[in-house]
Amino acid sequence: EKNSKKLGIALVGLGTYSTDQLAPALLETKLCYLSAIVTGTKEKEQQWIEKYGIKKENVYTYKNFDRIIDNDEIDIVYVVLPNSMHAEYTIRAAKAGKHVICEKPMATSVSDCKKMITACKKANKKLSIGYRLHFDPFNDNMMRLGQSKFYGNKMTVATEFSFNVSDINHWWRANKKLAGGGALMDLGIYCLQASIYTFGELPLTLWGKDTTKPDSIFNEVEGSIEWEMTFPSGKAYCKTSYESPFKSHLILNTEKGKLELSPSFTYDGIKGTTPDGEMELKNVNQQALQMDTFAQNILQDTSSIVPGEMGLRDNYIIEKIYESAANHSAVVN
Ligand code: NDP
Repeated sequence: EKNSKKLGIALVGLGTYSTDQLAPALLETKLCYLSAIVTGTKEKEQQWIEKYGIKKENVYTYKNFDRIIDNDEIDIVYVVLPNSMHAEYTIRAAKAGKHVICEKPMATSVSDCKKMITACKKANKKLSIGYRLHFDPFNDNMMRLGQSKFYGNKMTVATEFSFNVSDINHWWRANKKLAGGGALMDLGIYCLQASIYTFGELPLTLWGKDTTKPDSIFNEVEGSIEWEMTFPSGKAYCKTSYESPFKSHLILNTEKGKLELSPSFTYDGIKGTTPDGEMELKNVNQQALQMDTFAQNILQDTSSIVPGEMGLRDNYIIEKIYESAANHSAVVN
């Protein structure tokens, strides 16, 4: 059989990201393929069986999910559920003896992140976070140029990821219990990641401010937030919002001029410039590369470059940003 040597992936939660990005990407992967689905929506079962040739016996619900323990065609469980469900399904997958990719944010609390790491360690399974931009050549170039201090030792990062949401009815991201937080957990996490991977350092201190509009439709989670982080090599100024026109950029100001990715965090169409001109790079299928790289980690028993520990680190910093915003004071990391 064609797929016999590829690792099987089970997508858990067949929402927008699974449907529009991950499943199509799994048609392009070389080391893994979509072998199973886990869904709570009956109508999706037949649609996915037909579209992706999934075997009937490889279709699971949230209730019978733990039976994957008996399925050899599932090597990796990919958790693509609302944020507050990531921990439970990662832990259940590890207990069923499966490697796990968990979407960002890793969880809605640091304590859940720790439990997830422990569960995967105990099961001797790998855990990776859906940080797709580590597989994008433009962001990778920014990492290499920033971290190597190619344009000088002193740097400033300015980054924003925002878009406008006009209707939050039935939108789990506006629900504190399901999302854990607002724009920061969902979009700002990209700015946090970008600041850290551009400096290649961890923030020493940070300062956050909730900038949700006074007349906001968001009442449980922040609609907008801004924060600053001080790194050994300079400062990062970050913004994220559900209440703004679309913005997606990563700017690095150096002693020798400006580097910019714009858009920076999209699935496609990323463009970049340095003081030396345009980055001559091509966009790739980030998700395909991300999943194939994880499959390779498993096959060769190497470490994920976006491991659970990185997700934990980011959830920790997110908690600090919320703490700073709530107390109107700087926080030492
Ligand atoms: P959606 O709302 O589109 O899909 C979530 C799916 O989860 C639903 O379709 C449903 O699938 C399942 N689900 C189970 N319980 C619930 C519940 N109580 N409420 C809502 N849905 C439920 O979300 P996304 O696909 O956009 O996001 C899913 C995860 O992926 C999030 O953690 C998000 O942060 C992450 N993500 C990451 C991206 C990236 O670029 N890395 C991009 C987009 C999202 P079913 O009907 O099959 O049960």
